[in-house]
This record gives sequence, structure tokens and C-alpha cells, in this order.
Amino acid sequence: MIDAHVHVVPPNLPGVGSLAGTLRMRPEAVAAALVAEMKAARVSHAFAMGEWGTGDDDPLGIHRTLALADLVPGLRPIGICCPKRGDLPDHLRRVEDELARGRVVALKCYLGYLHYEPAHPNYRRYYELAAHFNIPVVFHTGDTYSPEAKLKYAHPLGVDEVAVDHPKTKFVMAHLGNPWTVDAAEVIYKNLNVWADLSGLVVGDGLEPTEAEHFDTLNDIATRIRTAFRYAERPNRFLFGTDWPLIPIAPYREFVGQIIPPLHHPAVFEDNARVVFKV
Ligand SMILES: [Zn+2]
Repeated sequence: MIDAHVHVVPPNLPGVGSLAGTLRMRPEAVAAALVAEMKAARVSHAFAMGEWGTGDDDPLGIHRTLALADLVPGLRPIGICCPKRGDLPDHLRRVEDELARGRVVALKCYLGYLHYEPAHPNYRRYYELAAHFNIPVVFHTGDTYSPEAKLKYAHPLGVDEVAVDHPKTKFVMAHLGNPWTVDAAEVIYKNLNVWADLSGLVVGDGLEPTEAEHFDTLNDIATRIRTAFRYAERPNRFLFGTDWPLIPIAPYREFVGQIIPPLHHPAVFEDNARVVFKV
């Protein structure tokens, strides 16, 4: 099984903080926690977001994630696109050099958190490089954890724009655009180069069955995912992901497993990610 969306370092985005207490721990402790989670859920590979705003020696913000990867078998880094530097040839050359080393499994654009729409010219070169190196570009889509974020940049419809203009680039909408899940499903249905991950649709203690209000919330989310999955008619374009440590991996796998029809479990929990991320 593959978890296409975890965090092992704070994303370092405006207004977000450390994301979870776990990410403030020493690297060895974070690694031990993740290894235990992966083992319990039988996850063989996990793809972890880097951090935004690092210096020229680390143009995609992956150095700290790479250090963790040494301690966690199957952990691979996702590089962070910086639209503020997307028009600087020197920066883009450093990004290209890093991608050529083959250590990065995807690029990530933090839509909403950073006030740039997917079609902004400063993202264009990243899409070209992703196509060249045959790795996907993951977008944050939907609700954000930051009051400083602007939601209009994180709506799935913005992904349709670039999916059309960059047909050779593979795009992944993280969080299925939640709460705009049917909008995201339409973008998947219509474009052959768009996927979605199912991470972070419930966070915190939201899977604890003890509270009645949680039960209703979980039902609402499950219904939204089910509807979107059916609407898209593309079981090969949905990827399992968690957003760990915002949610424990094994219970979240159970939750998603109850929503996705069993026929499609091999695709959603492993095979699709192998195709998109070239595992
Ligand atoms: Zn995340």
C-alpha cells in the first residue's frame, strides 16, 4: 500500500505553524513514529511534502525530508514549488539540477496558502520540468489550515485551466478539492492528465466513533467522496493518502476502505500511485 501524502517536516507556510506536534519532535522521533504507523497499516511507500521558503542550496525544500528518508524505508520527498522565484532563471536552473538527480517523486504547489493561481506564469516552468522528468505536480486544493490563505486560488476549477494548457504534465489535486469534491470530480472526468488524492478529508480525532457529531460529519464526508468517485467514472485516477500526522494512517485507511468499492481497492491503495509517481 502507498500513502501518497504525508508530512515529516513543518511546511513553513504563512499562518500555518508546525501543522502537528509530532513535527516539532527530533527527526529520529518523527522517523520512529512514521515507521510504526507505516508498519501498522502495511504501507510500503510514503511520499512526504518538503518545506517552502528554503535557500538556494535547497531549491525544492527537500533536504530535511531526505534526512528523514534515510531513517524511514520507502519514504520519498516531494519538492515544493516557489512561485515567488518562478521567474528567476538561476532558481529554475537549480530546480532542474535537483530534478535531474531523480530524488524527487513529485512537485507540490501550495495553492491558496500562496496567492498564485495554477495558471500564474511563475508556475509554468515547473509544469514543463515535471513533464520533462515525468513526475506529477500535486496541488493543494480546497480548504486550508491558514486564515491567511485565499480560497479562490485553491478551487479545483483552476486546475482545469492548466490541465488543458499542459497536456503532457500529470496533475494531482490533493484532498479532492474538499469541500468542492464534485467540482474536482468533473476536472478528473474531463481531463486525461488529472488525478486526486484522498488525504486529509478528516483530521485530528475526527475518526473517534465516540461522539455523535463526529458520526454525522463522517457520514457527510463519506457521501461526498462516494458521489465524486462515481461522478468522475475514473477509478484509476484516485490515490490513497492520509496527511499524516494530522490523522493516524491505519484508521484512515479503514475509513477510506469503507467508502471506495472493494473492486477498486488495489487501484486506489497502490496501483494508481505506482503509475503516477513511477514507483
Ligand atoms: Zn498535506
